[in-house]
Amino acid sequence: MSACLLGQAVRYDGKDKYTALIAQELNKYCHLIAVCPEVEIGLGVPREKIQLTQIGSTIKALKMPEQTVDVSTELKSFAIQFVKKHALSALVLQDKSPSCGIDNTKLYSQSGEQIGLGSGVFATTIIDLFPQIKVVQASQLQNSEDIERFVQTLTK
Ligand code: SF4
Repeated sequence: MSACLLGQAVRYDGKDKYTALIAQELNKYCHLIAVCPEVEIGLGVPREKIQLTQIGSTIKALKMPEQTVDVSTELKSFAIQFVKKHALSALVLQDKSPSCGIDNTKLYSQSGEQIGLGSGVFATTIIDLFPQIKVVQASQLQNSEDIERFVQTLTK
């Protein structure tokens, strides 16, 4: 689970995104593992933002504001290591993040214009390489019923 959702102050701005309902309800059913891919690859807290940028047919995670440092490979490698280390059945990830977002993260051109929405590099790597792991966004778990339904899909 994205560590910021569990209350860890690991966001680029030194804050968290604690979501009590998800953290407390899921904790009743599951063993939760907190992960912040950006911290795990050594970006530190606080840190410069990273941004998804379309370069040709590839989407890169570039450090802002210079956009000269590409951390995509590190995020991909960490995602693979993380899955190999833990027996995961599911992941709950924070929306709109260049690492953790799914289909709702701002995607930019090289000249800095927003050209659409994409998925974060950590999330994409796990979805593409490990389809057996159910990956959802926090916004999909908005109430106890959503969470119960989600947990039921894991036990089938
Ligand atoms: S969204 Fe993901 S990368 Fe960003 S702070 Fe939360 S856990 Fe870390």
